[in-house]
Amino acid sequence: MNPNKLRCKETISGMSDPQVRLETMIAKLKDLSFRVTPQRLAVLKILANSDAHPSVENIYEQLKPNFPTTSLATIYKTVNLLKEIGEVVELDFSEESNRYDGNKPYPHPHLICTQCKTIVDPDVATASDLSKELAKKTGYQIVNHRLDFFGICPRCQSKS
Ligand SMILES: [Zn+2]
Ligand SMILES: [Zn+2]
Repeated sequence: MNPNKLRCKETISGMSDPQVRLETMIAKLKDLSFRVTPQRLAVLKILANSDAHPSVENIYEQLKPNFPTTSLATIYKTVNLLKEIGEVVELDFSEESNRYDGNKPYPHPHLICTQCKTIVDPDVATASDLSKELAKKTGYQIVNHRLDFFGICPRCQSKS
């Protein structure tokens, strides 16, 4: 998957086209001979359509009304599988639940509110420029990066 190609498909809001993301995930799972069960499909849909960076617990809450027998473990397995095949980006937090971005499955900067835990994707291109510059300066072949900005979102600021 060429990340630049994906980037061209981004909508004005900065999100990738959810339908394209969903189809890409399904195609990749099928290519690798994984079954796409209705339950698994529901997890894919939530991840493809969300820019809120849900946790496994969030996904579970959204699924429960339609799939009352779904367990957290099942969702963990699906999310981990997607992570292994590069179709979801994991944001790993030591104190909080990990969060996932299945709409943009490539490295990109994140803005994290330390109060309400909202995570957004700032619409900036600087991260890939920084990667290129680092590669040039250090001779490293950069394969991944993680760029998190922590702060207080406008909504939380207006509350205090
Ligand atoms: Zn906040
Ligand atoms: Zn993101």
